Amino acid sequence: MHKFNLEKVWVVGKMKQFAVIGLGRFGTSLAMTLTRMGYDVLAVDTNEEKVNNIMDRVTHAVQVDAMDEQALKALGIRNFDVVVVAIGQDIQSNILVTVMLKDLGVKKVVSKAVTELHGKVLERVGADKVVFPERDMGVRVAQALVSKNIMDQINLSPDYSIIELMAPDDFAGKTLAEGALRVKHGVTVLAIRRGNDVIISPGAKQMVLDGDVLVIVGRNDKLRDLEEK
Ligand code: ADP
Repeated sequence: MHKFNLEKVWVVGKMKQFAVIGLGRFGTSLAMTLTRMGYDVLAVDTNEEKVNNIMDRVTHAVQVDAMDEQALKALGIRNFDVVVVAIGQDIQSNILVTVMLKDLGVKKVVSKAVTELHGKVLERVGADKVVFPERDMGVRVAQALVSKNIMDQINLSPDYSIIELMAPDDFAGKTLAEGALRVKHGVTVLAIRRGNDVIISPGAKQMVLDGDVLVIVGRNDKLRDLEEK
């Protein structure tokens, strides 16, 4: 079992510190991504194999049962900026650990919910944020499957979104002004992705090339019209 080295965590100081409890598919991916983004991450699981597998890819990994309040205290869990409860299948543990973390004084507890009802319970017991990774992924994949050209979509409100759209064929070789997206479709190009480059806030004279991806904000109905063009 890996010995938790408190000193090493606190030396880092100002950087935001995350703890991820439960190293299933979601917890593992989250912990590794946060680490790659440069954050300090403590990964926790009861399962030794899960802990060993992730040990080299996060700041710290410990084999601890998060239902054990004393063990959580010993980890100094209340000093982490964000603690994510990524226990999925075992709903009872997921809820109890969420309650315990808030009782221990953790400022921000983010809990993974499996169903809507589960999510409501988590909110009631004090989770600061509830996430539904499976549901949200299903929505994203569905959106990507039904639209020919939309590669990704962020919903800003029920009426407005940001989309990534393959530049329509008849745009290639034209400037944004000539494409007249704002005039004809009432949407705004925020950026153009060209291979590995990103042109931020492109001007009216910016040329669109074949293969460009346009990042566009606008009303959903206008965006749909544009996609069906
Ligand atoms: P996913 O659906 O994202 O793969 P799972 O529910 O399958 O998530 O995995 C949850 C992980 O949480 C498992 O690795 C399990 O060992 C771990 N886990 C469950 N209960 C606890 C607990 N009390 N303390 C720490 N880890 C736990």
